[in-house]
Amino acid sequence: MAKSLFLAAPLILQALPGAFAWGTLGHDTVAYIAQNFVTSATKTFCQNILADTSTSYLANVATWADTYRYTSEGSFSAPYHFIDAEDDPPSSCNVDYNRDCGSGGCVVSAIQNYTSRVVDTSLSTTEVQKALKWIVHFIGDIHQPLHDEALDIGGNTIDVTFDGTSTNLHHIWDTNMPEKLVGGYTLTDAKTWAKTLTTSIKTGAYSSQKSSWLSGINIDDPITTAMGWATDSNAYVCSTVLPDGVSAVSGQELDGSYYTTAVPVIELQIAKAGYRLAAWLNLIATGSTGLKVASKPRGAPMIEAVKVMPRDFEAEMSPAKLARMAYGHKC
Ligand SMILES: [Zn+2]
Repeated sequence: MAKSLFLAAPLILQALPGAFAWGTLGHDTVAYIAQNFVTSATKTFCQNILADTSTSYLANVATWADTYRYTSEGSFSAPYHFIDAEDDPPSSCNVDYNRDCGSGGCVVSAIQNYTSRVVDTSLSTTEVQKALKWIVHFIGDIHQPLHDEALDIGGNTIDVTFDGTSTNLHHIWDTNMPEKLVGGYTLTDAKTWAKTLTTSIKTGAYSSQKSSWLSGINIDDPITTAMGWATDSNAYVCSTVLPDGVSAVSGQELDGSYYTTAVPVIELQIAKAGYRLAAWLNLIATGSTGLKVASKPRGAPMIEAVKVMPRDFEAEMSPAKLARMAYGHKC
């Protein structure tokens, strides 16, 4: 079974562009936004690693990780695309590194790991290249609220319809809603969307809040930094993804008022992901974000320093982790 699945996966990927994780549109847009905010030194750093001097050097690799995870060689990386927060939406949203990052790793530990590997001179060119491609992808994934939620396997098992098509809640957040908003999923569509969001960041609706998006960013503490991003994103599960619980969306057509409410969050999260990716790449390449960083406002909730405990691999798995295992690491 596994073998035929692996053989079929590339065909499925070709047949269904945008079928996985934010979809190609979301990931490519995040990459183009980042390209608009990296310094020239960072651009050179990335172009050298990727051996690509084109105007789409980050966008060209933004969805590689979603193809690689479906190969037998890359299957180990499947859990790195999410962190299954075992919180209780809509009444309580939160992410806990020790509770939620499974024994096989998660998007938070992956961001830490590949941040160190991309500058590890003992690694081969191929491994350094993979590390950069994963960073570009995972900083996108962590900004999709349902990549930071365990409930119903990140919404994958909540059946809904969208524009008359049967699908699931996870998928409409990854793909259907962004594609409906933009009207396509090509690289050109992504570039156009990125241009709009870049203008919003520079001079528009996001200009006054962008420095707060980088609050707490710390290249020496990727776990706490990425946990901040995951916590920020997970909060939208309670406020916007499932404000009235699963029963309110299950089996429903969500292309109406649900979509209208979701769109501003999707735009915001794509914009944040691109801006934070640029800052993170600037930190990696130059030691500075290259962008204005807000200090924490007085009285603002601080993201608590994350205490990383040694994992007990013998410990019993939670029902959510067992459900994820049974479902596979699809999204
Ligand atoms: Zn992914």
